[in-house]
Amino acid sequence: MASATSMRAAVLFGPGDIRVTTRPVPRPGPDEVLVRVAMCGTCGTDLKILDGHFPQTPPFGEFTPGHEWTGTVAATGETVDEFGPGDRVCIEAHSGCGRCDNCLTGRYTACLNYGRAAKGHRASGMTADGGFAEYAVHHVSALYKLPDQLSWEDGVLITTAGTGLYGLDVAGGFVAGQDVVVFGPGPVGLTTVQVLKALGAARVICAGTRPSRLELARRLGADHVIDVRSADVAASVLGLTGGEGADLTIDCSGSPAVPELFGQVTKRGGKVLVVAFYPSPVTLDLSAIVRKDITLCTSRGEGGNNVKRAVALAAAAKLRGADLVTHRFALDDIAEAFRVLRERDGDPVKVVVVP
Ligand SMILES: [Zn+2]
Ligand SMILES: [Zn+2]
Repeated sequence: MASATSMRAAVLFGPGDIRVTTRPVPRPGPDEVLVRVAMCGTCGTDLKILDGHFPQTPPFGEFTPGHEWTGTVAATGETVDEFGPGDRVCIEAHSGCGRCDNCLTGRYTACLNYGRAAKGHRASGMTADGGFAEYAVHHVSALYKLPDQLSWEDGVLITTAGTGLYGLDVAGGFVAGQDVVVFGPGPVGLTTVQVLKALGAARVICAGTRPSRLELARRLGADHVIDVRSADVAASVLGLTGGEGADLTIDCSGSPAVPELFGQVTKRGGKVLVVAFYPSPVTLDLSAIVRKDITLCTSRGEGGNNVKRAVALAAAAKLRGADLVTHRFALDDIAEAFRVLRERDGDPVKVVVVP
């Protein structure tokens, strides 16, 4: 067992009010693992959680967010023999109830008991305490061994990469030889670009607004990048794809302006995959999508055991997470970390917190 009984943890006391305080070290239940957190990533979802705009979070004053964490096993529950103290692990945020229709088919990010801890559901850092703390517990099913050659930074981004992989899984999975447009070169988009190249996609085109991120997309494998502020996106994509459009269009941006482009940039008979959340309702010409016989797919988070696939791709050096980490903060400076993320101060890609 971990010897410490108390720990430092960030607690959300009210909208925008996150502070580090002393809390008891959580005790792992029979099917749970206690992890000494080495690093926890921040993301746009955390900003919604911080503002109090995320459903089913625990009450203010007793909730520790953080859903992209990695670390070293400190103790295990009585039924756990898959991991032992000292193992380095990375996680998926969602652990489903394991008993509903969706969990039984691997769709545990759409668990029908979402948020119901008594039924066994746990979304770390969303409906249960997460990784902005020295220690966190998680269900054994949501942990993966982190290969020795991977850094903590890689471990944090593995959770993120699971989102793109799950989306591709939902959209049919087989992208070899296909032309793909990825909107939004944030962490999800940038890991998705790498995954697409690893899976044999033909031309990967990344579209976004920030030149530094587009340059990073190119370094990570994008064949073409489009600055949506200066280029005609639809004309550019058609020009790069022989006038046909992309076989697959993926929106990782969450920008309400992007869905209107789906019908214009996607090939007849192609597919659109949305893995982003938008800040407001969006408009799009759905008839154009129907006329072109385009399949519209959506997915949430990193279901279907796709984090395991992300670990495999990272172990094979086909997915580089550390390249995305631009800012590191100590746990005590977590409020500053979120300010940097929110204000995009210093052009951050992935901001991480080190407890
Ligand atoms: Zn996230
Ligand atoms: Zn379930």
